[in-house]
Amino acid sequence: MLRYQSSARKRLLLITASSPEIGRVRRVRVLNFQQITMPYLAALVPDDWQVIHVDEVVTAVDVASQVDLVAMTFHTPSAFHAYELATQFRRRGIPVVLGGPHVTLVPDEAQQYADVIFVGEAEQQWPKFLSDFATGQYQRRYSAIGLPNLDNAPVARKDLFHRRDHTAGRLFATRGCAYHCDFCTLRVMYRGLVRQRPVAAVAAEYASFAGKVIIFWDDNLASDLDYAKALFRAIAPHRKWWSSQASIQAGSDPQFLELAARSGCKQLFIGLESISQASMDEAHKGFNRVDDYARVIERIHSYGIAVQAGIVFGFDHDTEAIFSDTLDFLEAVGVQNATFNILTPYPGTRLYRRLEAEDRILTRDWAKYNGRQDVVFRPRQMSALTLLDGYRYANRRFYSPLSISRRLSRSPVGLWWTLPLNLAYLSARWFDQRPRIQPSSARPSEHQ
Ligand code: SF4
Repeated sequence: MLRYQSSARKRLLLITASSPEIGRVRRVRVLNFQQITMPYLAALVPDDWQVIHVDEVVTAVDVASQVDLVAMTFHTPSAFHAYELATQFRRRGIPVVLGGPHVTLVPDEAQQYADVIFVGEAEQQWPKFLSDFATGQYQRRYSAIGLPNLDNAPVARKDLFHRRDHTAGRLFATRGCAYHCDFCTLRVMYRGLVRQRPVAAVAAEYASFAGKVIIFWDDNLASDLDYAKALFRAIAPHRKWWSSQASIQAGSDPQFLELAARSGCKQLFIGLESISQASMDEAHKGFNRVDDYARVIERIHSYGIAVQAGIVFGFDHDTEAIFSDTLDFLEAVGVQNATFNILTPYPGTRLYRRLEAEDRILTRDWAKYNGRQDVVFRPRQMSALTLLDGYRYANRRFYSPLSISRRLSRSPVGLWWTLPLNLAYLSARWFDQRPRIQPSSARPSEHQ
């Protein structure tokens, strides 16, 4: 048990940490949706605290801030940066709390840089910690006890949303995913259990946003199709537009799609991951049936819903042909948007353990675990440089004028919705052309 006597005036600084390297990655992503973890935890803070939220995507942290307590959340690529911030505050005698995905993945590492860490979902233990802190006695580590029930989940504080993104509202309806894909950190975070907030509570929060466009910050909104359908019926009268992540099962249920479209769904982010079935089987994501992709995408489109495809390169079954084959496929089916990622073995995942056992991890510099600018493991069938180069080729080609024209001309979804986003990516992609690497002799063909 530690002791810390706070001053009479208590100021709590919440930080959504983001390293400068991740800032560079974000600049080319166009869509940088507000993370809601800190605005959500702020809703659980008693009134005798003054809460300040610094989102580093928007504002730099002032390490000279006069505060009584700092709490930070961050993902793996921002870990070293967050540790540096923590060290600076602690040098001034300000206690620092660390939590979030990376802390849960490697708690013993994070503990070295913090007075207190939160392992797992923080919301149950967060009020207890604040109460302990007020007494001057608190623990070094607070671990989630079971998985929080979301029946009484608070509403995130909108006044602490700071990003000027392209949406008016961010909220979540469900948390977790029932699957266990090798590369995904959700299994470690949520242990494969999915929970839902009451439909009425989600609908009320959805309606409370003044703007028209809403993002559901869910891991997989299709994990419980019946729940999703009830939610869509409840939000439809509000006549807003929304988007969310969903597994491919979303596209297999016409009623899900019809209700989603009627309730204002304009785009679904679908984790296709790979057009290689062998790669999907390898990643324990065999429920993604590659042979069905074209049919599912066509069905989603038929309801006027655009598809943003999540694509990962670097699986053991990927050869150099995967890059151009994937682009050929995405253009042929008229996918409206895509997010390309370099396979990244986050610590704590099954993928990380396998590659570590095979002595294929190239670096444990977490800043390089960004999935966009660095390859951190030795690929099986190509060099790391070829993988990086192929990833860049995919981005360049997908958001080239020719590809945009090909894809959107085959897309039955309204151009008013899909063209502006493609043009934004077309201009942003030039930021990603920094001469960090030399072109590989094995560069995929630039014939497109
Ligand atoms: S389906 Fe998606 S969210 Fe669920 S475990 Fe797999 S990659 Fe993660």
